[in-house]
Amino acid sequence: MKKNLSAALLLLFVIFGSVVFLLFMPERFSSKPSSEEFYALGTFIRFQAWGENAPEALEAARISVQALENRFSLFSPSSEVEILNSAAGLEERLFSEESLFLFSKALEYAKRTKGAFDPTIGPLTQLWGIGTAKERIPSPEEIEKTLNLVDYQSFQIFPERGTAALPRKGQAVDLGAIAKGYAGDVVREVLGKHGISQALIDMGGNIVTLGNKPGGSPWRIGIQNPLEPRGKYLGILSLANASVVTSGNYERYFEKDGKRYHHIFDPFTGYPASQELLGVTVISPSSLEADALSTGLYVLGLSRGMQLATDLKGVEALFITSDRRVVGTPGTASIFTLTEESFSLEIR
Ligand code: ADP
Ligand code: MG
Repeated sequence: MKKNLSAALLLLFVIFGSVVFLLFMPERFSSKPSSEEFYALGTFIRFQAWGENAPEALEAARISVQALENRFSLFSPSSEVEILNSAAGLEERLFSEESLFLFSKALEYAKRTKGAFDPTIGPLTQLWGIGTAKERIPSPEEIEKTLNLVDYQSFQIFPERGTAALPRKGQAVDLGAIAKGYAGDVVREVLGKHGISQALIDMGGNIVTLGNKPGGSPWRIGIQNPLEPRGKYLGILSLANASVVTSGNYERYFEKDGKRYHHIFDPFTGYPASQELLGVTVISPSSLEADALSTGLYVLGLSRGMQLATDLKGVEALFITSDRRVVGTPGTASIFTLTEESFSLEIR
């Protein structure tokens, strides 16, 4: 009898224990992400993904980003951007399909923003050297001379021959405002091919989300308060399957005589773009588009930028002004919550 009782208890324990196990373990397994952290494309990168294949998927994603770095970096002499730039004024060169794709996307957004985003900005970024040991305020003559080289309309791409060229000596392409965005799209694709449907990709503040958060609610993305140290948010975006990219005057700059000189240039004046805006955040299904536009809309300024963002399908934008307003396109009404009370929110 006693023996039977303990056997029954043991049986109960096994059954009950395994039910508890079944109830809790799958949830615990599925809510613990795999992650990958590394430095590339000039920034700290962090991937998180959920699902059985996540570790392999993330490793494949990291390898694909490192390959992009070799292809597009301004600092590597063997990168295709360097090959293009060092042949400026000389001859057409052959490029990979991927480079030709990114070059033509860059030109597409240059046209859309009427040259506010200009991938041939290279000579100007080199002249100012912002964020490098050589940063300085150039003379107006230097700026004028350099601006003659900044001209996306002269950047030639010949897809049928697989070539591209910059016609004038001294011209240079700088993909700093679009390459990281493109990398975000590549990572999403690589993860998707590995069967991942839930992931959070953070590439130095460029965010790509796959699916919803485990548990089903949308991802919550904090928008940096440009007037506060990194990590202090002014509001929250709730998103699934979207990219979020911010360009601001607080990322890379130096100050002289009380004036801030930052790294987003107005290709029409040759100076850092107007201080009316502290930052622009763009939300789009395409991370490349969000990146190119965040820079382009920043240069266009609030009124022209807002017009373009409203005209573009699938694009939403938040403009953060130096007089502490957050101005959003109509679609941001349902996804953005302002949390910082010293700013006001306007939806147009
Ligand atoms: P971040 O690099 O801080 O994420 P952006 O995406 O706005 O920010 O890219 C800024 C970089 O883009 C600059 O460092 C420079 O290399 C390049 N750039 C600056 N001004 C322009 C412009 N008007 N059009 C295209 N690229 C630009
Ligand atoms: Mg950008």
